[in-house]
Amino acid sequence: MIRPVPHVAAITAYALSQLQAPEGKRLVSLSQNESLRPPSPAAIRAAAGALEAGHLYPDPDWSDLRAALARVHGIAAGDILCGSGSMELIACLARAYADPENAVLAPAHAYPFFRTAALLARARYDMAPEVKGQVSVDALLAAVRPDTRLVFVANPGNPTGTRIARADLLRLRDGLPGDVLLVIDEAYGEFADGLDEPMFDLVARGDTVVLRTLSKAYGLAGARVGWGLFSPAVAREIRKVMSPNNIPAASQAAAAAAVADQAYMRETCALTAEMRDSFAGRLRQSGFDVPESHTNFVLIRLGDPDRAQGAEAALRAEGIILRPQGGVGLGDCLRATAGQAGAMDATAEILEHWARKETT
Ligand SMILES: *Cc1c(COP(=O)(O)O)cnc(C)c1O
Repeated sequence: MIRPVPHVAAITAYALSQLQAPEGKRLVSLSQNESLRPPSPAAIRAAAGALEAGHLYPDPDWSDLRAALARVHGIAAGDILCGSGSMELIACLARAYADPENAVLAPAHAYPFFRTAALLARARYDMAPEVKGQVSVDALLAAVRPDTRLVFVANPGNPTGTRIARADLLRLRDGLPGDVLLVIDEAYGEFADGLDEPMFDLVARGDTVVLRTLSKAYGLAGARVGWGLFSPAVAREIRKVMSPNNIPAASQAAAAAAVADQAYMRETCALTAEMRDSFAGRLRQSGFDVPESHTNFVLIRLGDPDRAQGAEAALRAEGIILRPQGGVGLGDCLRATAGQAGAMDATAEILEHWARKETT
């Protein structure tokens, strides 16, 4: 019989959303935090142009994309690594720094792929409690064990949408032992850039990595492009475990053009924030518990898992898909991506109708 290695057999496959609408209903997915609009027209043109050289392997050094990122963020192009989505970089970090002899630590309600990456590296996955969906630096520091080697935090968080202030992240870094690599995943960083608390400067210490992605604010989830700022020593190790030629030429071209078009990305963020806040405001008025979010989604706290399942089913029956959060210990919550106005109105209406029916 053909058998996989035991730690792979023991892992459940990473769960994406179930994207099916009932017969006769149009599918509206608010479940994957995709952008509410397509990428910059300049990105689409650049990708189409790149396909003309499709017989060639892509640039293994992502030169144009790194140059564009370096220019926009005021960082050194040589310290940037690009991944097939930031998921590839997360997996590579775990592959390079976690093993069966050590442990990976993250907040209790963290992005679930941190766990998958840790388990594939056969490391122990430890969790630190959060306080009302807010990462607690004290709890994280208290959860550090002698064998902790890697700490993942997403800032802003997914699915909580909450933020860790720069001063708290500095306190976390200062409190962690020098042999613990801290990874700050800023997949939603562009939505919080207005707060002007960039973390890239921490990377120069040599013990911290900052990740970002083109999948959210830049609307390029389908292109699979993530990136991070790494110290030279960490970058050298990550390069060894990365897939060479990891980002298709068309995706690199699209990403470089999208980064160059900051105005379009900023407009996307503004439109998203407006949609997110009006949706959240309406739901709060109708009695729902919707914490403040610094991302392109909101978390809806239904109080208990039965109510969350009831609300999810009511929406699904109309073709609207939200993301249940039982997988990260928030079974009483649903996560809704900020989408087009029509979708948000329909979602709010169905939830309000469901809540009224529930009380009668
Ligand atoms: C969406 C998301 C990612 C993954 O992004 P890709 O670049 O598409 O792989 C990483 N981290 C967090 C917290 C996310 O929400």
